Amino acid sequence: MNRKKLIVANWKMHKTPEEATRDAKAIAMALGALPPHADVALAPPFPALVSTHQSLAGTPLLLAAQNAHTEPQGAFTGETSAPMLKACGCRFVITGHSERRQYCGETDTLIQAKLQAILREDMCPILCIGEREEERNTNLTFKVLDKQVREAVKGLSVTDADFLVLAYEPVWAIGTGKTASTDQVQEVHAFLRKTLAESLEKDLAKRIRILYGGSVKPSNIKELMELPDVDGALVGGASLDPETFVSLIRNGLYS
Ligand code: PEP
Repeated sequence: MNRKKLIVANWKMHKTPEEATRDAKAIAMALGALPPHADVALAPPFPALVSTHQSLAGTPLLLAAQNAHTEPQGAFTGETSAPMLKACGCRFVITGHSERRQYCGETDTLIQAKLQAILREDMCPILCIGEREEERNTNLTFKVLDKQVREAVKGLSVTDADFLVLAYEPVWAIGTGKTASTDQVQEVHAFLRKTLAESLEKDLAKRIRILYGGSVKPSNIKELMELPDVDGALVGGASLDPETFVSLIRNGLYS
C-alpha cells in the first residue's frame, strides 16, 4: 500500500508569531515544491497560527495545531476549539501528546472526545501514543499502546477514521536524544497496524499513516523512513531551526 509520507514540525511552546512566520517562510522557500508522495506540516503555537497560515499561502506546506478542546464553543477560559482551528487554516491537530498527558492530566477518554471534535471539523487528528521508560522496561509496551489506541478510536466510523494519523512517540525518546532502534520502531508500528485492523477495519488500517516521533534528526530520519510501516515523522527539537528541519525533510523524503 502506497501511503503518502508526512513530516510534521511540532514547535511546542516556541516562537512568537513573528519568529514562526519568518521560519515558516524560510522552510517553504528552501523546500520549494514537494515530491507528490509527501506532505509537510508545521504546528506553531496558537498565537502564531494565523500569521503562519498566511505565510504558507501559495506553498505546499500545511498547518497543524497542537491541541483542541472537545467542545465547539463555551465557557472554557483559555481553551481553543476545533472550529476555531479550522477557521485558522489548520489541516491537522496533534492530540494526546505525552506532554499533555503528563502535565495536563489528559486521559484516553478525553483524548477520544478530542479526536471526535477534530474529525467533526474534517481535520486530521494526529493521535500520539507511547509508552514510558518503566513500561518498556517491564514489558508493558504493547499492553499500554493497545489500550491507548483502542480507547481513542472507540466509536469512530470507518469514514471518520480514514482521516486519522497515528504517531508512535515513546515517551523515553522525546527530547532526550535517545531514538528507538529501527527494530523497536518497526515492531511497534506493525503491532499498531494490527491493532487498528482489529479495532477499526483491515483495509483502513493499511491506509492509516503511522508516524514515528522521538529525537528524530537529519542523521536518523532516512533509516526510519525506510521501515515498511513508518509513514513519516513528528519532529520536536530538530524542527526549531529551519535549516536543520529542511535537511531532515530532504534526507527523509528525497533520498
Ligand atoms: C515531540 O515532542 O513530538 C517530539 C517528537 O519531540 P523531539 O523530536 O524533540 O523528541
